Amino acid sequence: MESFESERAPLPRNMIENSMFEEEPDVVDLAKESPSYPIDSDDVVYEPRSSRLLVRGLGENDLDEDEEDYESSARLLGMSFMNRSSNQRSAASSYTRQQHSGSCTKPSTKTMVAGVLILVLLASLVMVIYFVPGCTFTRNGCLKTNSSMDSIYPISTSGELFPWTELRLPPSVHPVHYNISLHPNLTNMTFQGSVSILVEVLHETKNIVLHSSDMNITKATFENKEVHVLEYKPWQQIAIKFPEELKKGQYVLNINYTANLSNSYDGFYNSSYVDTNGTKRVLAATQFEPLAARKAFPCFDEPAFKSTFTIKMTRERKYISLSNMPKVKTTDLKNGLQEDEFEKSVKMSTYLVAFIVAEFISVSKNVSKTTVSVYAVPDKKDQVQYALETAGKLLDFYNTFFENDYPLSKLDLVAIPDFLAGAMENWGLITFRETTLLVGSNSSSIDKQLVTSVIAHELAHQWFGNLVTMRWWNDLWLNEGFATYMQYMSIETVFPDLDIDTEFLNVRFKALGKDALNSSHPVSTVVSTPEQVEEMFDSVSYEKGASILLMLNTTLKDGQFRKGVIEYLQKYNLSNTESEDLWNSLSQVSKQNLSVSEMMNTWTVQKGFPLVTVKRNGTRVTLTQEHFLLNAENSTDSSSLWHIPLTYVNDSCNHLSSCKQVFHLKNKTATLKLSSQVKWLKFNFRSDGFYIVQYDEEGWSDLISALKEDVNVLSSKDKAALINNIFALSRSDKVTFRQVLNLTDYIRNETATAPLTEALFQLGQIYRLLDKRSELNLASRMTSYIDEHFGSLMKNQSWNLESSVSKMTLRSALLEMACSLDIGDCRTQAKSLFDQWISNMTTQIPSDLMRTVFKVAAQTDEGWGKLLETYKHSINDPEKRKTLQALASTQDVRKIIWILQNSLDGSVIQTQEFPLVINTICKNFAGYLYAWDFVKENWDKIIQKFPVGSFAIQSIIMSATSQFSTKTHLIEAQNFFSSLGTKGSQMRIVQEAIETIKLNMRWMDNNLNTLQRWL
Ligand SMILES: [Zn+2]
Repeated sequence: MESFESERAPLPRNMIENSMFEEEPDVVDLAKESPSYPIDSDDVVYEPRSSRLLVRGLGENDLDEDEEDYESSARLLGMSFMNRSSNQRSAASSYTRQQHSGSCTKPSTKTMVAGVLILVLLASLVMVIYFVPGCTFTRNGCLKTNSSMDSIYPISTSGELFPWTELRLPPSVHPVHYNISLHPNLTNMTFQGSVSILVEVLHETKNIVLHSSDMNITKATFENKEVHVLEYKPWQQIAIKFPEELKKGQYVLNINYTANLSNSYDGFYNSSYVDTNGTKRVLAATQFEPLAARKAFPCFDEPAFKSTFTIKMTRERKYISLSNMPKVKTTDLKNGLQEDEFEKSVKMSTYLVAFIVAEFISVSKNVSKTTVSVYAVPDKKDQVQYALETAGKLLDFYNTFFENDYPLSKLDLVAIPDFLAGAMENWGLITFRETTLLVGSNSSSIDKQLVTSVIAHELAHQWFGNLVTMRWWNDLWLNEGFATYMQYMSIETVFPDLDIDTEFLNVRFKALGKDALNSSHPVSTVVSTPEQVEEMFDSVSYEKGASILLMLNTTLKDGQFRKGVIEYLQKYNLSNTESEDLWNSLSQVSKQNLSVSEMMNTWTVQKGFPLVTVKRNGTRVTLTQEHFLLNAENSTDSSSLWHIPLTYVNDSCNHLSSCKQVFHLKNKTATLKLSSQVKWLKFNFRSDGFYIVQYDEEGWSDLISALKEDVNVLSSKDKAALINNIFALSRSDKVTFRQVLNLTDYIRNETATAPLTEALFQLGQIYRLLDKRSELNLASRMTSYIDEHFGSLMKNQSWNLESSVSKMTLRSALLEMACSLDIGDCRTQAKSLFDQWISNMTTQIPSDLMRTVFKVAAQTDEGWGKLLETYKHSINDPEKRKTLQALASTQDVRKIIWILQNSLDGSVIQTQEFPLVINTICKNFAGYLYAWDFVKENWDKIIQKFPVGSFAIQSIIMSATSQFSTKTHLIEAQNFFSSLGTKGSQMRIVQEAIETIKLNMRWMDNNLNTLQRWL
């Protein structure tokens, strides 16, 4: 899946200690272990024997102080804390009190304390020993179960005991094949379904347990005999109990059901749009990853339960239907309807199944043995050609690169009018947002860069994810990190003009920013609840995953990475893997004296990344590594060590790959010998490694002097990395802001895109914080600083059409900043271009400047009104999105509130754009507090639309809070998040948000004076 975000994440950088959200607690956290539902204190059962958590039913339960005390006693007893029931607490404590009262009569205080302590421990021990064999703690205290385990099972909807007690399905029964028939009704938005599953019983069992959510099961048969289905809603599971053990072998389970087409963006959902004639059109499409196939048909909804699928779809004649496989036949049914039947699929995971019923047009072409087609709504038939050509070229590339042809005879790419993710890699039927697939006649190369990236990512998934799949969501990075890496690698080869290299560099900077927070997590992380699974779709899985693969590829000798990947794909064809399987395949082909597995585990199993400190003393260079945290004084991971393939260049040879020298830093410190001729060293060549570097004072000043003498002494990636690293170091108080300005001073002579855009990005973040704090004097001095250093470049930019992606990227960053800070005559130029565009339909605004021009125009009532009309009628998606960003950048509070309401309702603005609207509004002083209030007030409505933990929710929370830097706002945010109950407050993004606010506060406290002095 491709999360949709076209801009760098909001500033998650500066840091402060984090008292609220420390490292993982050493007790089992009920909310983390339990399903996605608040837990009813009355229905929690603790079974000490197996330390297994069992939960029944729903309800609210907050931990009060007394309960915390109980938690501590539980810890003392060496038990995992499982039960937050106050009734159980009283039962337990009264038991202990009885022991106290009978223990001693006239003790000294000291003896009494010691005695009581010993007795409590002894009594507790006796209690544990006595009760362990046959006791279950419930709200009524300890219940003897007399070897019957029945009481530990959850209660199903019908009131009977549900025969399974874990979120993961039992391994005893596997699906082999599904026959699925569906009939969606696009008038009343319901559907009927029937699924027949051929299952294989691997170990004798009395139960079959599978997933199902939000459906009404009308009939179920097993081997043609009607059976009773039990449902346990909190875990989205259903079960069939059998009186006798089922013997090993194959059986058929049939289930008929009805359900509503989903109103959110997952499951089998309905989507609509208004065509150019003003007619509302509806369609039904699917989005199953990660956990929503169970909303469309009962199934074993875990990635390791691979199976084949045959799908039949009933529809009205005016629609077409699509699924993963080619259509075999269409049958006329009696009632004027038609039924399409699709070929039996390859063996695959449920989250990759897909179907669509809609009125779409398409274009096709043959690539090798595959028919590639692009589908869109009829109004946009002119915008599909670019995607078709691009998909063809990339399919060719991957077929060759992986030495393993795409296995299906067709590949459809479909633009869905209302779609939340960026795209989804369903095997043979990839779904996209319209923005990420369609390219109109006035789209620029930057728009094409986005479309190409998303297609390249989704096509890579056809191998990484579809053919070979992670066993469980903890290794999601195997799918996403790889697809992200392959997307950049393939585009660099197939479309060198798209300057994807700079984009990939920015992505690595973004990943470093996120991973420098204490709230980050290892690439490979234990997950169990639905929210934790949703949360895996984040920067660490995608961008850090891709970054460490780049580091590995640049460390291995030529061609070895590809060879290892080919072997991995062949070996695990159609099956499931873990990280270790990939490392083993790569280790086998790597003839170097390097254990890939040993090296890469240091990057996947521990969170964060290293800071390498370089100290030079003549010919000796001392290298030290430590865990880089922005809130360094709160470092809890001082023992973390990475195997760093440390690279460096020096003054005599620094641009070419052949200049690169490698040193494997595996220990905390090491020494390097240099020739005395070496004037300066630059570590982390081209920023290909996932670490940052700190030099001693002399090291920095040598580099800065070299740059001031000759701006081209380093590659543009190396220069951008120096800028990125020094800002990060300043945020963690490892260098002063004065040193930052020493480096950025060189920028006056800079012309390369990567370092300039990085410097603008960093300075822009600081400007926004100052602005939000109403530090008007400092904000205006920052404006002058930017003017002084970038002003002449800003002035020299043309406003005409441009074809180089690199030049467009630079120009749009420079002019957007110039217009937003009112530098030079930017606003006048933008206004005049907008006026020409409005009055003369033949005038074109260069696509890369459109957002800047529209944002200036949106500041007047007249301009805003015209842009709203454009938004309503435009069928060009990139233009529409830029128009929306301009509308949301208004300083008029009434308009801001109108946009917030309309984008959440989905009336004028599609709900899919709500995260973008929040992000845009929060960048400006005028609206950021309104947006925050709106999020708080409408939280329940928001989580109905976007799953808790999902990328959309992550983006909304981060956008709404990352600009706060005061104590008042910190407390407000903390209060709001803790009011969300376990479901909301436990999200990792909440920890990240709080950590970011604290870091902003600290950065402000530490640097306001410096800025007064130096800016
Ligand atoms: Zn993906």
